[in-house]
Amino acid sequence: MIYLDNAATTRTAPEAVAAMLPYFTEYYGNAGGIYKLAGESRKALFQAREDIARTLGAQTNEIFFTAGGTESDNWALKAVFEAYQSKGRHIITSKIEHHAVLHTCEYLKTMGAEVTYLDVDAEGIVNVEQLERAVRPDTILISVMYANNEVGTIQPVREIGEIAARYGILFHTDAVQAYGHLPINVEECHIDLLSASGHKFHGPKGAGFLYASSNARIRALIHGGQQERGRRAGTENLPGIVGMAAAAQYVHDVMAERSAKETALRDHLIHRIEQEIPGAVLNGHRRKRLPNNVNISMEGIEGETMLIMLDLAGICASSGSACTSGSVDPSHVLLAMGMSHGRARGALRLTLSEENTWEEMDVVVEKLKGIVGQLQGLRGSGSSAAI
Ligand code: PLP
Repeated sequence: MIYLDNAATTRTAPEAVAAMLPYFTEYYGNAGGIYKLAGESRKALFQAREDIARTLGAQTNEIFFTAGGTESDNWALKAVFEAYQSKGRHIITSKIEHHAVLHTCEYLKTMGAEVTYLDVDAEGIVNVEQLERAVRPDTILISVMYANNEVGTIQPVREIGEIAARYGILFHTDAVQAYGHLPINVEECHIDLLSASGHKFHGPKGAGFLYASSNARIRALIHGGQQERGRRAGTENLPGIVGMAAAAQYVHDVMAERSAKETALRDHLIHRIEQEIPGAVLNGHRRKRLPNNVNISMEGIEGETMLIMLDLAGICASSGSACTSGSVDPSHVLLAMGMSHGRARGALRLTLSEENTWEEMDVVVEKLKGIVGQLQGLRGSGSSAAI
C-alpha cells in the first residue's frame, strides 16, 4: 500500500503511541482527584499544555484541549460570537474554509450573525485588500485558514493578523493542516485563536486544541465541571492529550528535515505528472503551498473514478469532490478558485508524509499514467466511466 492521504489523517507516530500507553494502564487517575495517582495525570496534563504552547510561542494557560479540529473551529467562532455581540455581529471569513468553519458560520447566521465570505484568486489565495475593505465597525472576528486542506495554499496570515490588530478585531486561523508543517508564532502573526487537530500531525484521533489568547474573551463550549478552566467541561482525554503533545514535539523537532523531504517528493511528483500525463494541470499555488500537498486535475476524468482505480492499485488518495446522496459535487474550494465544474471534478489530491519514498512517487506516476490513459481511452469510446 502507498498512503497518500495525509491531509485526511496520518499514521500515529511511535513516539506518540509510546507516550500514551502508560496513561491507559498505569497513570489512569482522573486529573481532578486529590490522591497521588491523580497528581500524575495533572502533571502530564500541565506538561502537555506547556509543550504545545511552546510550539506556538503561546502561554501555557492559552491552550485548551478539545476533541479535534472541528470542535476547535466551532468553539472559536461560537464563543467569540456569544462574547462580543455587544460590539457587533459581523464575521469575515473566506469561501475556501473547511466546512467546520463554513457550516458554523451558517449556523451563526441563524443566530443573527452577518458573514462576509472573501473570494480567493485562481491559486486559492485571499486578497488582503478585499479583506480590509470588508472590515466594518461591527466586525468582531476574522477567520481565515492558515493553509487550505485541498490545494495546500498558504494564506498571507501575518498580513491578515496585522489588519485584524489594526482594527481591534479578533483573528482566528484554522491551522489544522499547517500546524507541524510550518513554523507558527501566534504573537508575530497577531493570531488570537488557532485550531489544530492531533491526528493531522501524527498524533491520535480524538485530541485537538484551541489556542485562545488571554486577550480574547471566550465563553464555555461545554458546560459541566471545571476542566479546561471551566470552558470545556468533561474528564480530559489524557492518553490522547499526552499522545498529541508527543506528536507535536516530534513534528517540531524534525520540521526542517521533514519539510525538506516532503517538498522534494512533492515537486518530483508534480514535475513527473505534468511532464508525462497529457492534460494534467496543477491546482493551487506552485510555491505558497504546504510541503506535502499535490493537487492535480486530469482533463476530462472524474477524480472519483481515479480514486477507485488507484485503490485497486494499492494507492490511497483523495479527490476534490464530496459524495452527497449518490451524486458527486465538485469541491467548493476549487469552484471558489474559478475552476470549471469539469476541472474541479477531475481533481486528485495526493498528500504525502515524511514516510513516503522516491520509489513510491515513481510507482504512483506509472500507475496514474496507466489509469489516466485507460480512462481517456474509455472517454474517447463514449463510456460513462469518464466525463
Ligand atoms: N479544518 C481543516 C482545514 C481540516 O482539514 C479538517 C479536517 O480535515 C478540519 C478542520 C477538521 O478536523 P477534525 O477532523 O480533526 O475534526
